[in-house]
Amino acid sequence: MAKLISKKVDFGNMKKENEEIYVTRTFLPPIEEYEAYIRDIWNNDKLTNQGPILKKFETRLREYLGVENIHFVTNGTLALQVAIRALDIEGGEIITTPFSYVATTSAILWERCQPIFVDIDAETFCIDVGKIEKSITKDTRAILAVHVFGHPCDVERIEVIAKKYNLKVIYDGAHAFGVKYKGKALLDYGDVSICSFHATKLFHTIEGGCMIFKDDFASEKAELIKRFGHHGEDHLMPGINAKASEFQAAMGLCNFRYVEEIIEKRRGLSELYDKLLSDNFKKMNISDELEYNYAYYPILCKNESETLKVMELLNKDSIFPRRYFYPSLNKLPYIENYQACQIAEDVSSRILCLPLYVGLKKENVSKICDIMNKISVK
Ligand SMILES: *Cc1c(COP(=O)(O)O)cnc(C)c1O
Repeated sequence: MAKLISKKVDFGNMKKENEEIYVTRTFLPPIEEYEAYIRDIWNNDKLTNQGPILKKFETRLREYLGVENIHFVTNGTLALQVAIRALDIEGGEIITTPFSYVATTSAILWERCQPIFVDIDAETFCIDVGKIEKSITKDTRAILAVHVFGHPCDVERIEVIAKKYNLKVIYDGAHAFGVKYKGKALLDYGDVSICSFHATKLFHTIEGGCMIFKDDFASEKAELIKRFGHHGEDHLMPGINAKASEFQAAMGLCNFRYVEEIIEKRRGLSELYDKLLSDNFKKMNISDELEYNYAYYPILCKNESETLKVMELLNKDSIFPRRYFYPSLNKLPYIENYQACQIAEDVSSRILCLPLYVGLKKENVSKICDIMNKISVK
């Protein structure tokens, strides 16, 4: 571990904080480390198309996550779309969750599939497995569930249901990088798991994402789809361009040196929130079977008006938490048949993610908690 960490970064003091505090802030490695890779790119004279830096990054990912079939791609949304294609489920019904970022649903719609929303569990905010079976029809092809904020879905029960009804399982693990569940990477579950390496996520490659497949055949198919659907002059199927570049892979390799440190810093700040924030705000439990990544610090207010009040008062001090996720995706204006999901709609109306990033000062966590604790007393 220690030898991976450059001595140049002083995490507590990474950058002077601006006046404004947002929900997240992108981690940037020391610029000289990135420059060294840029020089390699110039020397190699190869900018994209599975170059040597990308191959190295994929190897690093494979080792870190303990998985075989991994593909680094342009972003998490395309990872979902290519995964849906590679598993041959385009056009069918996909059981999914309304409590996610819009990309989970839009990927389904973009692949001409029908999203069937199943409500969430009030404690984990992940899909309520007990409600899946009654939404299965003869047209159901897959379950697309989200490990919300990096907390695992009930992966064991989802697997049982998928086997019973012969469904594919896709996990949107955009928040799950670095999480271990029962000793293995959370991204190693399902027929495929995807992750996002967007600049706002815990671990990033500027823009980027990955797909991890169980099955070798589906994995090869994804590789083909992601590169226009042809091998040389053999055109095998219509594909798309989801290739990531050497520059993105280089950022990934730089950031890898700091992953453990990033998670550790976030843990410290999360524990400070736990300690300072009053119990009038509901916090998430971290299960014992989990090595958590502290990707987010969500809290639930009592109702929507309290949520708006908290936002208003924090905004006055130039602090910007985020209503994440809001709205509940079953209420998107372009979803034609409204499918009620009472818990997701309720949670969406009163959830806030509080600022959490490397470089966030402890005194600002105290300030946020002070402001919030005063509100809840009234
Ligand atoms: C960020 C995110 C995505 C999309 O990933 P991109 O890399 O931004 O395309 C998908 N699902 C969830 C849950 C996300 O948070």
